[in-house]
Formats: sequence, C-alpha cells, structure tokens
Amino acid sequence: MSLTFEHVTLGQRVLFGTGNAAANLAAEVARLGAQRVMVIASDFETDIARTVATGIEVALWHHDVVMHVPIETAEKARAAAAGHGIDLLVSVGGGSTTGLAKAVAMTTRIPVIAVPTTYAGSEATNVWGLTEASRKTTGVDDAVLPVTVIYDAALTLSLPVDMSVASGLNGMAHCIDSMWAPHMDPINAALSAEGIRALSSGLPLIVDDPTGTEGREQALYGAYLSAVAFASAGSGLHHKICHVLGGTFNLPHAQTHATVLPYVLAFNSPFAADAEARIAAAFGTADALTGLQNLRKRLDAPKALSDYGFTADGIAEAVTVILPAVPASNPRAVTAENLSRLVQAALTGEEPQVLLDL
Ligand code: NAD
Repeated sequence: MSLTFEHVTLGQRVLFGTGNAAANLAAEVARLGAQRVMVIASDFETDIARTVATGIEVALWHHDVVMHVPIETAEKARAAAAGHGIDLLVSVGGGSTTGLAKAVAMTTRIPVIAVPTTYAGSEATNVWGLTEASRKTTGVDDAVLPVTVIYDAALTLSLPVDMSVASGLNGMAHCIDSMWAPHMDPINAALSAEGIRALSSGLPLIVDDPTGTEGREQALYGAYLSAVAFASAGSGLHHKICHVLGGTFNLPHAQTHATVLPYVLAFNSPFAADAEARIAAAFGTADALTGLQNLRKRLDAPKALSDYGFTADGIAEAVTVILPAVPASNPRAVTAENLSRLVQAALTGEEPQVLLDL
C-alpha cells in the first residue's frame, strides 16, 4: 500500500468502563454545562437508560424510536427537542436510538452524548441515516458525531446472544468493508485489523458466557474501532448492498450485515491481495474467508436473507438500486450479473465460495 494518503481523525471523547456509565454521564453533563437534557431510548431500552441517568436531571424522555429513522420519527423528535429548549441529547440504546439522536442533531446542532447498548458502532461515526418513502438516505455531517461516547459492557448484558452475534458481525462488517472502501488508508486499515481481532476474540466469549463482561468489553472495544475505521474509510460495496436491503426491503440491519458479509468477502478477496492478507492475519488463519467462516460457525451466525423476509422477487430491484452506488474503489468490477449472483447466494445461504471465481 502506498504511504501517500490523506486521513481525517474525528474528535470525540471516549469513556470506557464497566459499571461506570452513570458516573461518567453525570461528569460529562457537568463538564458540558448542559441544563436541559433530553434522553432518547426506545421502550425496550428505557430500563437501561433509567439506570444510566440516575446522576443527572432529565428535562425530557423520548421513547419513540424506529429502526432506520423514518423521517416522521425524526421530525417528531426534533419538534420535541425544540419545544423543550433542549441543550444536550443523550442516546441510550442501539444504533436506531443513536440514529434518532443524530437526526435531531443534524437540524438543531444540539450536541449528543451516546451510550451504546449494542455493537453497531453508530456512536463513533459522523454518518446519519434517514428513511423516506422506502428509500434510506445517508450523509455525513460532523454535527451528528456524538461529542462523547460512554461505553459500559454491563449495559449490553441484556442483549440476547443471537442479537449480540448479529450486532458484533455488523461491527466486523465495518472492519472488513473498510479494507476496500473509497478512503481506505493504512491508519483505518490498522484500526480495522485490531477491530477484527477484538471482535473475533470477544464474540465467542459472549456465546459461551452471556452473563460475563469480558467478551462484551472486547466486543464494544472492537465495535468502536470498527466504527472509527468505517467513518474514515467510507462505505464499501458491503455497506451499499446492506443499505439497500435495509432501506428498500426493511430487512433487520444487524442480521442483514451478518448474513451478507461472507459473500462480499468471497466476491472481493481474490481481487484485493493486501486486504486479504490483512484480514487473514487479523483472524490468524491462512485466508480471510476461512477466518470469517470459522468464526461464523462458532457463533451460529445468521446464514440466509430468506430467514429475514427477503425473497427472490426482490433481487432485480435490489440490484438496480445498488449498482449505481457501487464505489469506484471496489477491487472487483461489479456487473448486474455478478451482483445478482452475490445477492442470490446470500438469499439462500449457499456456501460463499461459489463467488470466488464467478
Ligand atoms: P437497534 O438499535 O434497532 O436495536 C435492535 C433491538 O435491540 C431493539 O429492539 C433494541 O431495543 C434492542 N436492544 C438494544 N440494546 C439492547 C440491550 N442492551 N438489551 C436488550 N435489548 C437491546 O439495532 P442496531 O443493530 O444496534 O442498530 C441498527 C441501526 O443503526 C440501523 O438503522 C443502522 O442503519 C444504524 N447504524 C448506523 C451507523 C452509522 O454509522 N450511522 C452504524 C451502524 C448502524
């Protein structure tokens, strides 16, 4: 890889510590001098949010959270923030909750403190997402980057094992896809490799002992690294595919990423020698796909998009929407034909090796 590059590091405070979220949040709210805090947490996340917010005064609780941030949901939250004179947003929850806080920050410029409870990584990116008329739009705006992220593995203990696995593989997808994304460089590649290592060591520990915090700490650490790498490198082919499957077909985000990832890796890796070598080294296996597939077997990871409501009828539309968005940086030329084959294989859960030499 050439050592001529331009890299941007986003400015953000990260407070990491199991059992420390409430104290860290109280200290951050005081440091920022916030007077009118709005806590955003879905109904499911409210119990967690209440424990995290014990040391702060909350001016407004907001629970209306919907996956992929429909524009109507964003507008309601923006109006609530404006109506209550809010000067700080605190999101406690998964990527959907963080995403709603970002959508409010985007138009109001109110700062966000993110307290993530999944391994999606949205908290460490300046990427926002909104869904309108079945089309998901994403964009980049530094105002949506949370000023502070508070990581506490204890908050993820309630995340069921299957969701932990899918969410952790969403983080893994940020790492792997960063390797051929438009702004890939040696710094985000190094972060990705460490993210792969942390996630592949943490996720099996969660499966073996869902009540322990060691695996969950590794998974949160890996999720953070993955998101920093992704924010810097941008969206590669994998994210473009999953973005369409989520936004247009309303498939569940983490499971879609977890399912599609080995297919994109098999599709691209024969054409991306440096990425292939880095990913294999991070997994400690002879080749990248073996590393990912060994881990996925160990985790009993999601296998087929058909399990999540996608059908063969959607392939042609998906390919039509994905194709114009394929990044020029993708190492392999993408055609309607080979992309249809990739999506077809992910639909049925075929062995991804079928894509190695299409
Ligand atoms: P999610 O936020 O939709 O959460 C999934 C489910 O898990 C929800 O029902 C939630 O209430 C529940 N949950 C969350 N934390 C829990 C916990 N600790 N215990 C029990 N249940 C818990 O799913 P997600 O995968 O975290 O996020 C997906 C969304 O995030 C998508 O909209 C995606 O586009 C977005 N995202 C954005 C970025 C970005 O950089 N902008 C990055 C990753 C994901």
